[in-house]
Amino acid sequence: MHPFILERPRDLVTAIALAAAPGGPSAEYIAGGTDMLPLLKEEIRHPDRLVALGAGALDDRIEIRADGFLRVGAAATMSAVAEHEGVRTGFPLIAQALLAGASPQVRNMATMGGNLLQRTRCAYFRDPGVAQCNKRRPGTGCAAAEGEHRMHAILGASEQCLAVHPSDLAVALVALDTALQLSGPAGDRLVPIEVFHCLPGNTPHVETVLGPGEVITAIEVPAAPWLASACHYLKVRDRESFEFALVSAAVALEIDDDRIRSARVAMGGVGTRPWRMRGVEEALTGARRDVEVYRTAAERAVEGAAPRLGNAFKLPLMKATLVRALRIAGGGYR
Ligand code: SF4
Repeated sequence: MHPFILERPRDLVTAIALAAAPGGPSAEYIAGGTDMLPLLKEEIRHPDRLVALGAGALDDRIEIRADGFLRVGAAATMSAVAEHEGVRTGFPLIAQALLAGASPQVRNMATMGGNLLQRTRCAYFRDPGVAQCNKRRPGTGCAAAEGEHRMHAILGASEQCLAVHPSDLAVALVALDTALQLSGPAGDRLVPIEVFHCLPGNTPHVETVLGPGEVITAIEVPAAPWLASACHYLKVRDRESFEFALVSAAVALEIDDDRIRSARVAMGGVGTRPWRMRGVEEALTGARRDVEVYRTAAERAVEGAAPRLGNAFKLPLMKATLVRALRIAGGGYR
């Protein structure tokens, strides 16, 4: 393991100053450490300085305001949020996605902010013995393009990288129009989560819009009473116990009798970032709650998809997963 200095700042201002110090040692933040520690051990990440975001430096409160708006401090653990009564009843899509991710032990340690910043599970990225990985070493190539890419993206990939973003939580948050509060040397700003993760393009090593020293400090989810009822997070994976998604679907429907007044849909396991399904939402809005409507809408989920030989199975799997999630969330008259 590359040697590093561990800093334990008492407040966020000090943490940001340590992480952003110009000309100083390379620095990275660490919170729960569930993703960082394996990457440090393998020397996939090799900062000179680790800035620990413990109690005091980063907020871990979970608040539901009088108008129903949800605000979660980025240091809250996945378990704490999944078990929070207000989240379970008011934002069940978030609780379902959290419980579909990781193991209970990991959820007890991993933070909400860290979950959104976890690195890809592409095996080539995590194997220091593999030389070709543009995300780990820009300009070296992509071993997955001609190698094993069964788990990889069919939406948003480039010639440089086709790695999937692995977070279940992020998929649910994208569907819910979430904003992330980022804090850094220039102050605070709010960024829609839908544009927080970058497409790989020619710079797959740039994964988020975070600037030097910036960190996620809170997650803000707008209120809507209907988000408490007709919703479902469905994750399809190789084994039910503990595995990343082959395909997942986050669905929330605003229902008015037999009609769908509006829909929020995002999918995971298929894109280089959590993928909002605007075309599917458009097809569902104003339509009857009907299985044929769900099937027609699901066809639009694969618009723009570019599968390779090893992951073309995701096309029919996406559609089937989405139809099933819609049936669970919205029911249907046929
Ligand atoms: Fe690296 Fe991305 Fe290619 Fe995986 S898909 S080997 S992360 S460049």
